[in-house]
Amino acid sequence: THVITEPCIGTKDTACVVVCPVDCIHPAKNEADFDKVDQLFIDPDSCIDCGACVSECPVSAIYPLEDVPGEYEAYIEKNAAHFKG
Ligand code: SF4
Repeated sequence: THVITEPCIGTKDTACVVVCPVDCIHPAKNEADFDKVDQLFIDPDSCIDCGACVSECPVSAIYPLEDVPGEYEAYIEKNAAHFKG
């Protein structure tokens, strides 16, 4: 999977949402709960690791799972948690 990390907080640019071929970045721009989240999240069960979103992010917040910097490690679970329960 790919993981969205700290730079997204306060940014929530939706360029990544638009390019994702499997629509696994949430919430989408028009979803009612867009204003209730502090950042965007990638569904780890749906992401196909195409990498298209990485270069679209204006704040370089998206990393492949294996390349998530140590200081952003908690964001791996934070992304996954958004899609549980
Ligand atoms: Fe979507 Fe591809 Fe980014 Fe995964 S890597 S979130 S499939 S655009």
